[in-house]
Amino acid sequence: MPAGQRTYAVIGLGQFGSTIALELTRLGDRVIGIDANETQVTPLADKIAHAIVADARDDDALREAGVAECDVAIVAIGENLEANIVASMNLKLIGVSTIWAKANSRTHHRILSRIGVDRVVQPEHDTGVHVAHTLHSPFLRNYMPLGNGYSAVNVDVPDKFDGHPFSALGISGYKDLYWVGLVRGQGFSPSFELDTEHFLRRGDKLLFVGRPDVLRRLAASL
Ligand code: ADP
Repeated sequence: MPAGQRTYAVIGLGQFGSTIALELTRLGDRVIGIDANETQVTPLADKIAHAIVADARDDDALREAGVAECDVAIVAIGENLEANIVASMNLKLIGVSTIWAKANSRTHHRILSRIGVDRVVQPEHDTGVHVAHTLHSPFLRNYMPLGNGYSAVNVDVPDKFDGHPFSALGISGYKDLYWVGLVRGQGFSPSFELDTEHFLRRGDKLLFVGRPDVLRRLAASL
């Protein structure tokens, strides 16, 4: 195995799981994909390191597939709540050090957290929140909660600021708002290399870190 390569187990190869398995493989990771249904496994057979037909409710089958030795395992079983929960428990039982799992609801999320799943994702909910934020603020390209009350946001510079200095945005008085840098084309200039009289151009993006209320004010002011 190449140095630094990590091994992931992806359990459940529906749309969500197979996308994760293929993308991790593309990123250079070694992926063991497992699904109880052979028709889900066959299309991935020559695309990921190992594609295995097994029922994740069976802890011995998971051990046999080499899941216990993986760095991270993710449960991507969607519809079948029982299988999702039992698979997550089995990963804990066989000693996988880092476990992620997909939840369908808040209650399901809580159960998985109680079992000891390290990170629970709710793709529909998480994507919905993300889409709502970006819909709400037309210049907000992307935002990422940092988990400590702060978020990082990537904001499109509105065309009306083309040829104007950064100071024209009028945000110097905002408390608890940090300008991280400027994205221009393929380049990135950290803010400590720029001054507030630096001229903005059409197509520029600005990266900020701040608290949600300040970021909302920022987005509303653009
Ligand atoms: P998606 O919305 O991502 O397509 P699905 O719930 O449709 O999610 O797919 C989840 C996958 O998990 C299916 O391919 C299904 O065969 C698989 N699966 C369900 N139960 C088990 C189980 N006990 N062990 C392994 N795989 C399972």
